[in-house]
Amino acid sequence: MMISCEEFVELVTEYLEGDVSMGLKMKLKFHEVLCVHCRRYVEQMKVTSDMLKYVPPTEVDEATMQELIAKFRALEADPEIDLPEEIG
Ligand SMILES: [Zn+2]
Repeated sequence: MMISCEEFVELVTEYLEGDVSMGLKMKLKFHEVLCVHCRRYVEQMKVTSDMLKYVPPTEVDEATMQELIAKFRALEADPEIDLPEEIG
């Protein structure tokens, strides 16, 4: 069963994030291979999401930042702090 371009576009975000079932992924992949329009669309989506990776993260609130700094300092002082028991 072939999915339509409309369905493809609707599901493309989940598809690129790998957030679809294996069966659906195969159908989307199949459509991508056969349909030049959707293939171009996927290329564009990939470029856009690659660019988004380089956008600096949004502001972290003060409490979260302090927590991260505290965790980092603790880790620095005692590198074994967060290791699971099985290791070591
Ligand atoms: Zn298509």
